[in-house]
Amino acid sequence: MKKARPPGPRLLNARARGIATLYSLFLSPYPAPAVMFSDDTDYFDSYSGAEVHRMMLGDRVRTEAYRDAIEAVVKPGMVVLDVGAGTGILSFFAARAGAAKVYAVDNSDILDTTRELAQANGFGDIIECIDGCAEDIQLPQKVDIIVSEWMGLYALTEAMFESVVAATHKHLRLDGQVIPAALSLHLVPIRDDKLYHEHGLGFWQNDMYGFDYSAMVGHEICDLETNTVDGSHAKALGRGAVVALFDAYTTPAESYWFKTEFTLEVDCDGPCHGFLGHFDARLSEEVMLSTSHELPLTHWRQSWFPLQERELRCGDRLEIKFRAQRDQVVDSRKPVYFLEGQVLRAEEVVDEFHYCYHSSYA
Ligand code: SAH
Repeated sequence: MKKARPPGPRLLNARARGIATLYSLFLSPYPAPAVMFSDDTDYFDSYSGAEVHRMMLGDRVRTEAYRDAIEAVVKPGMVVLDVGAGTGILSFFAARAGAAKVYAVDNSDILDTTRELAQANGFGDIIECIDGCAEDIQLPQKVDIIVSEWMGLYALTEAMFESVVAATHKHLRLDGQVIPAALSLHLVPIRDDKLYHEHGLGFWQNDMYGFDYSAMVGHEICDLETNTVDGSHAKALGRGAVVALFDAYTTPAESYWFKTEFTLEVDCDGPCHGFLGHFDARLSEEVMLSTSHELPLTHWRQSWFPLQERELRCGDRLEIKFRAQRDQVVDSRKPVYFLEGQVLRAEEVVDEFHYCYHSSYA
C-alpha cells in the first residue's frame, strides 16, 4: 500500500487533533477506551477507485519485489490467500507461478473489477474473489501461503497488520509461509536544509514578505505530523537504529504498537532537522523491500519526524525514547508517535526534546 485517500472523518481540524493529543498524552491509554469517529466504510471506500491502485501498481520497486518473492515461494499446486487483494496483482503472480487455488479477499468494491481482471487474464478458475474482511471469512481449507501488501505509511498507518495477523492465525496451515515474513522499522537522524526551510519548522523562520513569523514555530509544534517526504537528498548524521522488528509468525498484533529506547551515535557535525523513518520488509529469503532514503524511491517515500533545528557534533550520543500507539480518539487506524531525546556530549546532557506526531495519509 498506499496512501489511502483520506476520508471525511479524518479531516479533523487542528483543534480536534490538539484535544486528541492532550488526551493521548495525559489521559492515556491503558486500557484502551472505546474508539471514537473511526469508520471502516470510509476506509474501504478509499480503495474502491482507480487512483490509489494506479499509485501502487505504478510503484515498480514495490510490485516487482512482490513478484520476485511470490515466484520464489509459491510452488505449483499450492493454495494461496491474498489478504487485501485490491486489483489482484499479487493473486495473478501466484496463479502464474502455478498455485492450484488463490483466494483473493478484499472488503472494498474494487473486487468487482478484480473478478473481471481475473477472467480477462484466464485465471477465472484458479482465483476465487471473496468479498469481506480476511479475518472474518471462512475458507474450505487451510492455505500454504498468505501474501499481503498491508503496509501503510511507516508501515503502521492503516493498522492493516491487525487483519493480517488474525487471518494468519485463522487460515494458514501450521508450516505455511507468510509474505512478508518479517518487517523492521528504522529511524535515521538527518540534516536537510531545503526540506527544513521549505516544508519544516524552518519555513516560519524565513522572511515572510518582510514580517517575522517565527512565533508560528511554537504553534506548529503543538500539531505536528509525520508527513512523507522524498529524503533522497538528506544527509544522515549517524547510523540509524532499528526501532522495532515484527515477525509474521510470532509477533502478536498488539506488539505492533510498541515502546522502545535506544542510543544513536552522531558521526559528523551539523544541524539536525529530525529523523527519517522507513521500513524494510523481508518478502522472501532473497527479496527485501526497503523504503530507505538511500535506495530508489517507493510510493511510501520516507516518513519525516521533524525537530526544531539543533546543532549536533561528531561523537554526540542521542538517547531516544520512542513510542507508537494507536490513535484512540480520532482514527483508530492511525498511530500517534511520541519521541523524546537527550543529547549527551562527553557524558553531559547538552540538549533535550519532546515531540508528539500524528500520522497523516499523505
Ligand atoms: N494487494 C493489492 C492491494 C494492496 S492495498 C496490491 O498489492 O496492489 C490493501 C488492500 O487491502 C485494499 O484494497 C483494502 O481494501 C484491503 N484490505 C484492508 N484490510 C482488509 C481486510 N481486513 N480484509 C480484506 N481486505 C482488506
